[in-house]
Amino acid sequence: MAPPLAARTAKSLLKDFGKSFAQNSSSPRPSDYLGDIMLHIPFDNSYARLPDRFYARQGPTPVATPGPIAVNAPLAAELGIDPQALTAPEGLAVLAGNALPEGADPIAQAYAGHQFGGWSPQLGDGRAILLGEVVDREGRRRDIQLKGSGPTPFSRRGDGRAWVGPVIREYLVSEAMHALGVPTTRALAAVTTGERIQRERAFPGAVLTRVASSHIRVGTFQYFAAREDTEALRLLADHAIARHYPGAEGAMGLLDRAVAAQAALIAQWMSLGFIHGVMNTDNSHVGGETIDYGPCAFMDGYHPDTVFSSIDQQGRYAYSNQPNAGLWNLAQFASALLPLMGADTNAAIEAATEAVYRFEPLYQTEWLSRFRAKLGLATAEEDDPQLIDGFLTLMAGQEADFTRSFRGLAEGTARAEFADPAAYDAWEASWHDRLAREGRPLAEAQAAIARVSPAIIPRNHRVEEAIQAAVGGDLGPFEALHVALAQPFDADPASPCRAAPAPDQRVLRTFCGT
Ligand code: AMP
Ligand code: MG
Repeated sequence: MAPPLAARTAKSLLKDFGKSFAQNSSSPRPSDYLGDIMLHIPFDNSYARLPDRFYARQGPTPVATPGPIAVNAPLAAELGIDPQALTAPEGLAVLAGNALPEGADPIAQAYAGHQFGGWSPQLGDGRAILLGEVVDREGRRRDIQLKGSGPTPFSRRGDGRAWVGPVIREYLVSEAMHALGVPTTRALAAVTTGERIQRERAFPGAVLTRVASSHIRVGTFQYFAAREDTEALRLLADHAIARHYPGAEGAMGLLDRAVAAQAALIAQWMSLGFIHGVMNTDNSHVGGETIDYGPCAFMDGYHPDTVFSSIDQQGRYAYSNQPNAGLWNLAQFASALLPLMGADTNAAIEAATEAVYRFEPLYQTEWLSRFRAKLGLATAEEDDPQLIDGFLTLMAGQEADFTRSFRGLAEGTARAEFADPAAYDAWEASWHDRLAREGRPLAEAQAAIARVSPAIIPRNHRVEEAIQAAVGGDLGPFEALHVALAQPFDADPASPCRAAPAPDQRVLRTFCGT
């Protein structure tokens, strides 16, 4: 048996990638098309045209009996794919990894990363395969990736598979994030495999088809930086600039733009009470999308120290620590880019450090503008941070529900979220004074709040319910939740997704997306 990947040198690893593809005879190849496949995907695979040390050529491993969970018809149409072809047997076969569509060039991408601060020189797509890229109807280049599609040379001891729980969680939460206006990877489809996956116990297996503006992570840059492969770093930087930040100048331009994108993204997470859960550098997207939904969750009762992930024992990725984690990741990004920043290393370090520290003011500005909007404020006053903090402190003291409290300001029901309403009344008076100073009628402010503070979020207990039902073969709760989450701002007042969970229904821990 081959030694574990991590034990090998980079050079022998790169050689093995080529070999493993040649030897992997169970993977479907373009010649394995099923009859006259109707499915047409207009692929144009720019990442697969990069040198072969960027990835391992690897096809998906076929599964026993594919079954449908969901197809995202509007997203398919955006991509120039006929949604009906995806739901036909041929489409299902492609979504399960049992057939390759014409033009696909399947690869597993190489990357490294810091996981909970510890360095892993060798991660990579261990359970995901990039089928290829399409240029969508609006001219944007987008990746189509199967997640849970079988082992790759990066799988280490993993089985390369996913069970229906994390697939449903990622489908629901990533699509909810999109409906909330947050930059995110998308879910094109989910299918069951007809196979059992062994975790704490045996669960039904599933494959998610993920769409992203790219899958370039901070850890992708770290992979080449650690190998002192400056040529690959330069190619990767050019590729990332072309895809995410056209016009950005060189590595410094790329860093600047990524810093701004992460600052905006994390401020938006904070304004929704979203906790990513695993902000490792391999889960930090250079284009600023939310990626790799594992043990993520939206908070119910507000507390800044909230952590959900069962693997985050120290609270490294707690709600209030997310901006720090983002800054830390950007510092790793900057150091990976240093070899591209000129021969004068000291000058490069100084400039890169300055670029990274621009995160803080950018984040503050984004945070303030998001939270001002959540209070219906159209103008800026110096004391606004105190007014916002006042509300958050009040919520934290009583563990008031994050989403309902803010939404309650729009609907006139916020007071009911507080066990001690007197404290709320005092804060409300100062809020009303502030609105009066800018001359905005309360009703107008409330209408504005309702456009930015959702009524409906993917509440963890609802997601868990949908997963449990799906494990038992009932997709009803998943479908109902998906429909509700598509309209987070003008939600049906009777929707069950508005309600906070009863204390005994609260999910306190979420588990990793494997
Ligand atoms: P994540 O939890 O998505 O951040 O994954 C961290 C690393 O573990 C990535 O390299 C994944 O590809 C790999 N990984 C996670 N689950 C599996 C699995 N079931 N089989 C193989 N590799 C996995
Ligand atoms: Mg990951």
